[in-house]
Amino acid sequence: MTPMRAHVYQALGTNVGLAGKRRCLNMQEFRIVLLPGDGVGPEVIREAGKVLLAVEKKYSHRFTLTEGLIGGAAIDSAGVPLPGDTLELCRESDAVLLGAVGGAKWDYLPGDKRPEAGLLGLRKALQVFANLRPVRLFPSLVDASALKRQVVEGADLVVVRELTGGVYFGQPKGRFTRDGQVTALDTMVYTRFEVKRVARVGFELAAGRRRRVTSVDKANVLESSKLWREAVTEVGNEYPDIELNHMYVDNCAMQLIRDPRQFDVVLTENMFGDILSDEAAMLTGSLGMLPSASLGHGRASLYEPVHGSAPDIAGRNIANPLATVLSAAMLLRYSLGLHEEAAAVEGAVTKVLEKGYRTRDIFAEGTTVVGTAEMGDLLVEEILRGT
Ligand code: NAD
Repeated sequence: MTPMRAHVYQALGTNVGLAGKRRCLNMQEFRIVLLPGDGVGPEVIREAGKVLLAVEKKYSHRFTLTEGLIGGAAIDSAGVPLPGDTLELCRESDAVLLGAVGGAKWDYLPGDKRPEAGLLGLRKALQVFANLRPVRLFPSLVDASALKRQVVEGADLVVVRELTGGVYFGQPKGRFTRDGQVTALDTMVYTRFEVKRVARVGFELAAGRRRRVTSVDKANVLESSKLWREAVTEVGNEYPDIELNHMYVDNCAMQLIRDPRQFDVVLTENMFGDILSDEAAMLTGSLGMLPSASLGHGRASLYEPVHGSAPDIAGRNIANPLATVLSAAMLLRYSLGLHEEAAAVEGAVTKVLEKGYRTRDIFAEGTTVVGTAEMGDLLVEEILRGT
């Protein structure tokens, strides 16, 4: 292993190494926690669970899938959005696959008691600081994109978003009265260590892709962005064969729509990444297609679709499960080191789409609409068939 490759394990967590050791011992047993959550969460997790069981059968692994409570479902049953036993289960697992949390039913609760607090708490407890959001356009879905075919065809990028720092967590934060005015305050704060840690993930990813990192900031205005740019440049100096360019966030928002093919790895801080990755989602036509992985140095990483709990379509068997299934593929690759199996899941998604099956959100003239569960069944068939 070259020093740079050794860095991959450092940057992308110890999980890959752990999976490697298990494979050597030929144990092939992995503990995966499923957290369905709220809204469409249980529906999409059910299909991803079916897909994981198909992989287990096809490749003779032993997966122990255990369900836990999080979000509104946990509030209803245990009074808190992240019960202690859920957290313990996740910490002892090899990987966690989450559906989505939230819904109007819990909107009256104060911020730290709401379903979303459960998810933020889980990310913090698992110390997952790098959120990877690949945006890849499946050829058969080009016409589902919000952009013209000639602009979007071939787009293939990954947003690497810092996940545990920045304005969402910075202190001080709150409301007070100043000069007789009700005033609200948030703090955007980063340390050099935090920036360099996530930057390495971006550069390592780029090393296995098209070798281009675009670091996104607002260094013309924000102090935290000036530090961001300095620290990313320092890490960039360790990777002379990877091209680094810097872009202001407002320009990046525009360039993603104007010419998305210019991007390979987009590296950015927490809030900018939150916004840009949702914008980038529209390249693929639907939020229902976008997976994500949240990685850290701890044992268990967290995998989840980019979309929320979609209460407007929950319980009707019309949600698109592909974002969650593709998140499960990332879980197989990054946490369990099962690269062939991950590719088999992604291949099954490509095949089913090529055959013309679509959930409602990605429907186009001449294709066949299927429900959430039927889409899962089609994927299972493809995986077991092993094409
Ligand atoms: P959303 O992502 O739930 O839905 C936005 C739109 O996309 C809706 O029209 C929805 O029907 C559609 N959509 C989402 N997922 C889909 C899928 N799998 N298949 C087909 N269509 C899909 O965002 P929102 O409406 O802003 O938020 C709804 C709830 O979800 C809120 O309570 C919010 O706080 C929560 N939320 C949770 C997460 C998370 O758990 N990670 C992320 C975002 C929002």
